[in-house]
Amino acid sequence: MAIQNLQDTVLLHNGVRMPGFGLGVFRVKDGDEVINSVRTALANGYRMIDTAAIYGNEQGVGQALRESGVPRNQVFVTSKVWNADQGYDSTLRAYDESLKRLDMEYLDLFLIHWPVKGKYVETWKALVQLYDDKRVRAIGVSNFHIHHLNDIMDATSVVPVIDQVELHPLLSQIELRAFCKEQAIQMEAWSPLMKGNLDIPVLHDIAKHHKKTPAQVVLRWHIQHEIVVIPKSIHEQRIIENSLVFDFALTQEEMAQINALNQNQRFGSDPDNFNF
Ligand code: NDP
Repeated sequence: MAIQNLQDTVLLHNGVRMPGFGLGVFRVKDGDEVINSVRTALANGYRMIDTAAIYGNEQGVGQALRESGVPRNQVFVTSKVWNADQGYDSTLRAYDESLKRLDMEYLDLFLIHWPVKGKYVETWKALVQLYDDKRVRAIGVSNFHIHHLNDIMDATSVVPVIDQVELHPLLSQIELRAFCKEQAIQMEAWSPLMKGNLDIPVLHDIAKHHKKTPAQVVLRWHIQHEIVVIPKSIHEQRIIENSLVFDFALTQEEMAQINALNQNQRFGSDPDNFNF
């Protein structure tokens, strides 16, 4: 069932509950910018933050969380091991370094950021070790196609709880979603707002009908598909706007109209062809 509010959770296959809605902080500067974004989100009911080592803002995320007064165990914190740190030992070290920057004792979710060729299976083994050692509550991946998922599952028999991928109306990831459903892997959408490219007539028409914004319509579309979303904004007004998506519902026909926008169009890199 679709989540009903900002704090509502989805059940991951290892029994951990994860909020279905959070704040993304890619390209948010460490220091005041990230501190203000995270503080604003938490003050307005968000209970999940998605960061990564490569974002360079884990320190600010940790500081904002501590200063917010919201207990650590009520916020779901995700970070990711960066490509340059992949491999078994270096991933274990990267986890410790992320924790140190965040000044936290554990992460709720640690992800492999991208499937680096020749390295991601060893990286996955390190995540499994961290999980077995109870140092992290859940482990998953990001930017994995079906063949990447099969590789790590074949090598370890451990199924990631999450695949966080680019996913929005122009790239609806039909095949991957079907595969993940079969495997009980929860889908999480990055760039859910198409990086702000929301000027699509169908979205405007539906938004007008509900007295909502195109951003809210797109996030509602994800929620009704039971996809976890982590929209990013550094502006208070938008952080709040993005969260006001629980007081209306898209009809089946509107869902179908948005589904029909799919063009397999990426704003980011293809996981089979990236050079970073
Ligand atoms: P989003 O799709 O969330 O879009 C963010 C952009 O949209 C920003 O320019 C923001 O501007 C603007 N925006 C936010 N809210 C609104 C609104 N209501 N109306 C109009 N424009 C709006 O893009 P991201 O790429 O940031 O993706 C979200 C998160 O996903 C990231 O922050 C990160 O946590 C994660 N991610 C993960 C990746 C991975 O490889 N695993 C890759 C990319 C992202 P402004 O801030 O100025 O308001």
